[in-house]
Amino acid sequence: MKKIALIGSTGSIGTQTLDVVRQHPGQFEITGLAAGGNIGLFAEQVSRFRPKKASVATKELAERVRPQLPEDVQLYYGEQGLIEVAAGTEAETVVTAIVGSAGLPATIAAIEAGKHIALANKETLVTAGHLVTEAAGRKGVALLPVDSEHSAIFQCLNGERIEEVRQITLTASGGSFRDLTREELRNVTVKDALKHPNWSMGAKITIDSATMVNKGLEVIEAHWLFGLPYEQIGVLLHPESIIHSFVEYRDGSVIAQLGTPDMRVPIQYALSYPRRWPSEAKRLSLAEVGKLHFREMDYNRFPCLRLAFECGKIGGTATCVYNAANEVAVARFLSGNISFLQIETIIETVLSKHDVQEEPDLEGIRSADRWARNMAESL
Ligand code: NAD
Ligand code: MG
Repeated sequence: MKKIALIGSTGSIGTQTLDVVRQHPGQFEITGLAAGGNIGLFAEQVSRFRPKKASVATKELAERVRPQLPEDVQLYYGEQGLIEVAAGTEAETVVTAIVGSAGLPATIAAIEAGKHIALANKETLVTAGHLVTEAAGRKGVALLPVDSEHSAIFQCLNGERIEEVRQITLTASGGSFRDLTREELRNVTVKDALKHPNWSMGAKITIDSATMVNKGLEVIEAHWLFGLPYEQIGVLLHPESIIHSFVEYRDGSVIAQLGTPDMRVPIQYALSYPRRWPSEAKRLSLAEVGKLHFREMDYNRFPCLRLAFECGKIGGTATCVYNAANEVAVARFLSGNISFLQIETIIETVLSKHDVQEEPDLEGIRSADRWARNMAESL
């Protein structure tokens, strides 16, 4: 039995991870579960999977959920609680399905405790890729991608040499507004933005897909996961989300990974690697799909993607600030406080006011993250 801990268990990736666990009885033991809210669902999950340790976001939530949990479960809360669940159990792998840079301290603690990471929480790599990859290399733990594009690239690189890669290309569905002009984006609503054409995901990443910040975060994530310079990372619009990403080699061969859009496939692969297990995912029929479409990415239409490349090339605290400003801007958009296009204005303005620090340590990252959040709130 493989022991795993899961942080962010009540979200889109979290619940699909538990689906995978359910579909493979006898393969997994859940040693720890953590969530931010939705304590009704969380209590059910804890009662069903019986982790040794559990954690919720706040003390108040912990007091409310305690009576609903089996008595022998050790309950924690807050950042320390997340760290306890991620690093303080016998798990061999930790699935990071929490959203935002809030996942960073727990991810680093898990790596320091020698756990492999099945990584969905891309914001941690964007915020502190140099620290996370350095720690993983030093501890000899694997960073196994859960993000579908990165799982695709990871699979296309199997048995190959990274120095023989000419370019990797991440495909992008284009999100909820891919066919609108910038003029038409002025008055879009939160409800419109939350309707993603191909994937059902958490609110934040759905907005990130519409602004193309998600692809920007993924470009930076790919840079750290595969150790490639930004010049060798491309993005291509592909509305059907059937080709999840591809790798071009120096001999001209292109290897792609395809499948129906179902996150349980890359989640499961991160947990079964290097093996492949049966899955209930709908099989891909290319005859049924008929046609696939591709379009060059328009960086004027999606300026947040251009900004992500720029921040990635600058390095240091630039990507941390890009991410933190976006997290605040998206929360403000979701609460009806700003318009859709103001998300990009906020990111751009915060970045323009930032003095980049090169090679920041964890404290440097945390202070840049705090600074960017305060600045993004104040605009
Ligand atoms: P979500 O909003 O559906 O779920 C987030 C989870 O994190 C919830 O369980 C929430 O309670 C928990 N959480 C949030 N703040 C917390 C805190 N401070 N302490 C403890 N728990 C906290 O998000 P999601 O769509 O599942 O995305 C999770 C991560 O996976 C994100 O980084 C996202 O970019 C990435 N991702 C998601 C998808 C997808 O299909 N949903 C695909 C690829 C990558
Ligand atoms: Mg993705």
